[in-house]
Amino acid sequence: MHAPLLDAEIYGQIRETARRFADDVIKPAAADLDRDETFPAEIYAQMGKIGLFGITVPEEHGGAGLDSFAYAAVMEELSRGYASVADQCGLVELIGTLLTRYGTPEQLRRLPDILSGKTRVAYCLTEAEAGSDLSNVRTTARETADGYVIDGGKLWIHNAPVADLGFVLASTDPAAGHRGMSIFLVDLHTPGVSRGPKEHKMGQRASQVGALSFDDVAVPREALLGPKGRGFHIMMSVLEKGRVGIASLAVGIAQAGLEAALAYARDRRQFGKPILDNQGLQWMLADMAKDIAAARALVERAALLIDHAKPATSASSMAKCFASDMAVAQTANAVQIFGGSGYIRGFEVERLYRDAKITQIYEGTNQIQRTIIARELIKNGA
Ligand SMILES: Cc1cc2nc3c(=O)[nH]c(=O)nc-3n(C[C@H](O)[C@H](O)[C@H](O)COP(=O)(O)OP(=O)(O)OC[C@H]3O[C@@H](n4cnc5c(N)ncnc54)[C@H](O)[C@@H]3O)c2cc1C
Repeated sequence: MHAPLLDAEIYGQIRETARRFADDVIKPAAADLDRDETFPAEIYAQMGKIGLFGITVPEEHGGAGLDSFAYAAVMEELSRGYASVADQCGLVELIGTLLTRYGTPEQLRRLPDILSGKTRVAYCLTEAEAGSDLSNVRTTARETADGYVIDGGKLWIHNAPVADLGFVLASTDPAAGHRGMSIFLVDLHTPGVSRGPKEHKMGQRASQVGALSFDDVAVPREALLGPKGRGFHIMMSVLEKGRVGIASLAVGIAQAGLEAALAYARDRRQFGKPILDNQGLQWMLADMAKDIAAARALVERAALLIDHAKPATSASSMAKCFASDMAVAQTANAVQIFGGSGYIRGFEVERLYRDAKITQIYEGTNQIQRTIIARELIKNGA
């Protein structure tokens, strides 16, 4: 395995910046954001100002110009503060990558406002009949003399209630299945776009997730991102980086759980001594630390493969699947170490346990990740 592309000092600096921001700004706000289910607007604006959006976007387009290894570190640290905030970093990263790879000069001009936090984005793939099976997307984009007219509906889209710009996967040739799909940049304030109510979720409650409907939404020809008919392929091409992002987010949730559980175990006394003196609890904490380190190593391996332009399909699916399963299991252990307090609203570990669950579902469920790993195994050998 090669060393990271980045100089260790720059890598350390960006991790430290994200860590300090998480400790000073995100963590203190997390409980209120979770309780009120509000979009972290102030934090979002601050992230734009201090350069926590677009970590791998080249500097000439307004990004930090770093690599996926650094992106993973930033995601982990932000998520250690609060996963709903890290999710925003991940979303902007995907959109930034899409625009950098496929955007026209005119489309690229939208990047500075996205990276500064002025324009909020949404990544719109899922539909009622197209979840794991995105080849079943029914939203259509009909070509007209001036551009396209979009009709259809998207479900469970991050930022749908608050976004300005949607990256929408639609079928331009329904008969061609996934080979007839294209991506459109849709201004979500355009007539014909409507938003469903915000969903009330188990966890990551500050993330605003909802439906979007498109009713005869006219977009110009210039709204098409990349070649017509290549939308499915384009969306898939950023999923490896997306999976590394969600895997690091899961590691961050688990790390926050470990830190909280260790502090509580030192503090809480039963039978006249700290509960940390019990070997059974020490072993639980040891397993948490061990599994978090293993997940982080898988994340870093996948990020390095991406950064060195090596095949990373299986590695990124392994990282996503392992890290998210680990985060659910280890935040459950954190709750256990807190005893009854861990089950009570307002204690951080109660939120972390709820926040972890979705990491097994979004960005491709863990069943789909295992299918990908198995497919690669069958194709390439062990
Ligand atoms: C909070 C939240 C935020 C989200 N954000 C976004 C977003 O920003 N943009 C977006 O486009 N989407 C988003 N999604 C949608 C998310 O990506 C989908 O929910 C996910 O891909 C799974 O699709 P589904 O829910 O339709 O489940 P289904 O595909 O119906 O799956 C149901 C179950 O069947 C299993 N399954 C399905 N097919 C197979 C198979 N072939 N083999 C084995 N098992 C299988 C699945 O693993 C799962 O356990 C979000 C969802 C949530 C809940």
